[in-house]
Order: sequence, then structure tokens, then C-alpha cells
Amino acid sequence: MLIRPSFLNGMAHISAFLGVMSILAVTAFHFPEYLTTSTLRDIYDEQQVRAILFAGMVLASLLAVIALLWSSKKGLAVLGLVCVSLAWLAGGADVSLGSGVRDSSFYISLDWVLLDLVIIATLFINLELFFRLKKKQGILRSGWQVDLTHYIVNHIFNGGLVFLLFLPSHFLEEQISPEAVQDFFSSLPILYQVLLIMLFTDLVQYWVHRAFHHVPFLWRFHQVHHSVEKMDWLAGSRLHLGDILVTRSLSLVPMVLLGFSTDAINIYLPILALQSVFIHCNLKFELASLQKIITTPKYHHWHHTSDRDHLDRNFAISLPFLDLLFGTYYSPKGKWPEGYGLAGRHIKGNYLTHLLLPFRKQ
Ligand SMILES: [Zn+2]
Ligand SMILES: [Zn+2]
Repeated sequence: MLIRPSFLNGMAHISAFLGVMSILAVTAFHFPEYLTTSTLRDIYDEQQVRAILFAGMVLASLLAVIALLWSSKKGLAVLGLVCVSLAWLAGGADVSLGSGVRDSSFYISLDWVLLDLVIIATLFINLELFFRLKKKQGILRSGWQVDLTHYIVNHIFNGGLVFLLFLPSHFLEEQISPEAVQDFFSSLPILYQVLLIMLFTDLVQYWVHRAFHHVPFLWRFHQVHHSVEKMDWLAGSRLHLGDILVTRSLSLVPMVLLGFSTDAINIYLPILALQSVFIHCNLKFELASLQKIITTPKYHHWHHTSDRDHLDRNFAISLPFLDLLFGTYYSPKGKWPEGYGLAGRHIKGNYLTHLLLPFRKQ
């Protein structure tokens, strides 16, 4: 077989990915009110979605057969085939559509996770093709599979978490927040609300992030994020669920208590998500005039350096002047880190290895 082993292994991963997506898509047809976004349902063309599902299942089967014959990742190929078979048994592309007309108060936006992935991948892969920092690094660098798994799991977890955090936050808001404070923030124009949310949230995130670096128990979780050794659009997805739970809870709940509108918070969250992808990208954007106001790839790349002399710098997620204020800013002119990852340690393994890492003997 004249195909490179890494390419064949990539086929095995894609077949498993498409297989899992096929099952999720068929399940979403059965229970659209719980697994898709009501606003997006109105704009879908059902026949086109069925055609995409059919093409995905055929492609997953073909790649799985090739990978089963010639790749070393036969387990993934089998997973791909099993998933596609289950999807066929559950109705395949001809699956009948569930009720779907009534809206559920709690739903997981599986469709948005996939659409978001397509949009983010298209935008940032193209940027990386034109403005690549590490020229030798391919679009699919080593470890992309585990980070793609983080991306999907974290997006689903994050969506559910934000929904669940709004409930107790609104309850607490009614019980303990002074009405005058809530009235003040909620009466501001939405742009000011978004900017203030960014400032307050980043202030909280700055100190939570710093605690994740300096408290050994918290570092057990956060080291997963720092184990990535090649920066790109997927690298920022490598976050432990415990990391997301703590950071999101401590930063989002106070914003609701202060009375900021749900609309303003819902505008801020996608901005934060886009910025998080951007600052991890393999992009040679120094943006020197902006890098003390808004976070840039170079600024955050230094946060991921494996150079022991420059660890524990640049904690802000959006606003680097917080690092200037608290004495942790580091971004030398024209100089980028030579390597990324944990100083003196390499963490290999799959998604489960990352998930269990905090609970293993260090
Ligand atoms: Zn960190
Ligand atoms: Zn990062």
C-alpha cells in the first residue's frame, strides 16, 4: 500500500468521528426538541441534512474498511463500522422525524456544535494556511484527534453548564442582589454591558487561572491544557472538564447576580470562544500595537512556553493589561517561544488519559 501510515491512521480517526456523528445525527432526528437548536431548525432543509448524513455514513464505512485492512488503528476502524451499523439500524438517512415541533426548556445543541466546528475550522485553518507561524507544522499535527474529542465534549458540556448555571444564578439574583445594582447594570446599553462583562469576567478569570497554576490540586486539572506541544486552532480545546466547571461557574454566576442581561452574556460568550481559538492559533500575528489591550496569539503562546525561565506569565484570557497591572505580563518584541508544553514532561495518551490525569499519582 503506497499510502503513508499516518494518513491511514488519520482515515481510521475520521471514520470513527463520522461514525459517532452519524449516530448522534440519527438520534437528533428521533428527538429534535432535545438535541437540536429551535432557532436553527427553522432554517434547515431536511432533504439536504439527510443527504449530508447519507454521505457521511458512506464515507465513514469506506474509510473504516481501508483503515481496517491497512492501518494500525484497527480498533478505531471497528468503532467507525459499529457506529455506522447502529446508525443504519436506527433508521439511517431515512429515519423518520420525531415530534420536533414543541420546544423543550432544556436541550443540547448538537447541531450547533457541528456547525460551529465547521465554521471555526474553515476560518482558522485558512488563516493558518496564509499566515502560519511554524511553517513545518501541518494542518493535522500530532495529537489533533484527542483535541478534537476535547472540542466536541467540551462544547456539549459547556452548553449544558451555562444553561444549568443560569437557573441558580437567577434564583440567587432575586434573593441577594441589591435591586439598585441590578437596575444600574441592566439599564446600560448592550454594548457597554458586553464590555463590562468582559472586564469583570476577565478579572475573575485572571485570578482563577493564576490559582490553577499555583495551587497544586488545581494544577492537576490545568496541566492538561498545558500538555499541548503544538499550538493551533484546536490546541485551546484541550481543557479538563473540571477546569471548565470551576472557571465558568466562578466567572458567569457573578455576572448574572450583578444584573447583566442574558442577551449581553449570550453576546459575550461567543466572542470569548472565538478569542480563545484565535490566541492558540499557529499564526504569526504579533499585533504589537494591540497586544497590551487585547490578547493576541504571541501573548498567549508565551503562556504556553516550556521555557522554565518564563513560566506562569500572561494569565488574562481577553485583556492583557490585567497582567501589566498585576506584574505577570511577558511578551518580548519580535520573539516567540521556541517550544510549548510542560517543562520536562510529556503527556501522551487519549482523551480518557487526560480525563483521569488529575486523579492519578503525580
Ligand atoms: Zn494556564
Ligand atoms: Zn491556552
